[in-house]
Amino acid sequence: MPVAGLGPYDAQNIFARILRGEIPCRRVFEDAHALAFHDITPRAPVHVLVIPKGPYVSFADFSARGSDAEIAGFFRAVGQVATAIGLDAPGYRLLSNMGADGGQEVPHFHVHLFGGVPLGPMIMPDTAATA
Ligand code: AMP
Repeated sequence: MPVAGLGPYDAQNIFARILRGEIPCRRVFEDAHALAFHDITPRAPVHVLVIPKGPYVSFADFSARGSDAEIAGFFRAVGQVATAIGLDAPGYRLLSNMGADGGQEVPHFHVHLFGGVPLGPMIMPDTAATA
């Protein structure tokens, strides 16, 4: 079920629980700003999620309220994750769903890293504007 992507942070969301160690994950990277782990329902041969450690609901929330250090640290970590899992040379897709139309389901900001195969069109052609 998509979430709003705005509003108060729910400290019981699944990624908050992963950050607290209450739920296991297949971790691939961790530093002061970010945690990366394999998606439980992979949509590509490589499908890794990268989340900031702070309580941000969505990209909208993170970009508005995150400190410069958190934002820089997070995006540097995303790049390090992609390098560490060998995606720089073949390439990859970086995606963040925001709010209801974005299809966001977990209300803790995250980016998806997809790779391991040519990923095809960026978005379903029948959802593109036709004007
Ligand atoms: P989004 O639709 O952008 O909010 O994506 C949420 C992602 O979290 C989905 O791809 C889910 O498969 C993934 N997910 C949900 N629960 C877990 C979990 N416990 N461990 C790893 N990935 C999860």
